[in-house]
Amino acid sequence: QPEALLGELLEKIVALLPPAWLYPETTSARIVLGDRAFKSGGYRQAVQSLKADIVVQGETCGFVEVGYMWERPPLDEGPFLTEERHLIDTIAHELSVIVERKQVEDEKARLLDQLRHADRLATLGQLGAAVAHELNEPLANILGFAQLAAKDSGLVGQTRQDIERIVAATLHARDVITKLLAFARQTKGETTRIDLNCLIKDGLQFLQSRCAKSGIDLRRQLDEALPQITADRSQLLQVLTNLVVNAIQAMPNGGCLTVTTSAKDRWVSLIVEDTGTGMTEEVKERIFDPFFTTKGVEQGTGLGLSVVRDIVVSHGGTIETETRLGHGTKFIIRLPVAPS
Ligand code: ADP
Repeated sequence: QPEALLGELLEKIVALLPPAWLYPETTSARIVLGDRAFKSGGYRQAVQSLKADIVVQGETCGFVEVGYMWERPPLDEGPFLTEERHLIDTIAHELSVIVERKQVEDEKARLLDQLRHADRLATLGQLGAAVAHELNEPLANILGFAQLAAKDSGLVGQTRQDIERIVAATLHARDVITKLLAFARQTKGETTRIDLNCLIKDGLQFLQSRCAKSGIDLRRQLDEALPQITADRSQLLQVLTNLVVNAIQAMPNGGCLTVTTSAKDRWVSLIVEDTGTGMTEEVKERIFDPFFTTKGVEQGTGLGLSVVRDIVVSHGGTIETETRLGHGTKFIIRLPVAPS
């Protein structure tokens, strides 16, 4: 029954075992696989038993046990027959084959699922990039004309406010489009030798006032002897901005945001740490998935961290996350030092 679920199959097999033994009425059987146990009807712990391991790919993952609930007189092997020893060994071997086949099938199904997911994401990315391109021009027009209109000195209060809202909303839309384009990798990378500390100082200037507004203490701990790296400046700024904006959003009631750099061996580290909300395990597992967000439409696109990871990986680097719910989050990025 290749299609049957493993659990159902084992239940049926275990029910077949007692009738195959010499004293069926006093026999009970069980199959233990990992943390699951399957028992024959009226199962009781045996006082005399035969046991055989289920071994999959060299590892014992369970066993089959058949035994008598009341003591029986001695035969070939305790109260059991040599044939019964052969039978239980054969059953354990067959079970190993079945379990292994199921594991391979499950793995295949999981990979296929992943492939479909990746395929869907690639299509979404392409579609997103096409739409973003189309929207870029009209958006630039809206922004340009709204900014022009805002310069008119004769504007009355309400109209001025409305125009400012148009400008702010358009800037937000432009931000979303920039992230979408970065996600679909439609922006070209240009690598040069970079002093990461300088880039951080420049980048944080723009975010300083945003931190102050939210009651966040922004701290820099920069290793002044940091070696240079080879990187695309605007892409790294994007990484820093995305991480810092996320940290700010995670601290709605203020807190402390620390940006640290350091060097070890041939690697430079950039650490962005906040004392914000932190994340649950479930959220942490999905943060790098494109379009995954726990924020409202106005605040989140769900693309920030997938862009960050994409950029870091394309620079030959790594990214790690440490988080504690209610205490804060730390993103650790490591990038290779530029060859001398
Ligand atoms: P967005 O910020 O648009 O939601 P991201 O990809 O940047 O998209 O982040 C995905 C999710 O990861 C966020 O919605 C949030 O739940 C979580 N997250 C990211 N950074 C932090 C952080 N510093 N603290 C807590 N949660 C975070």
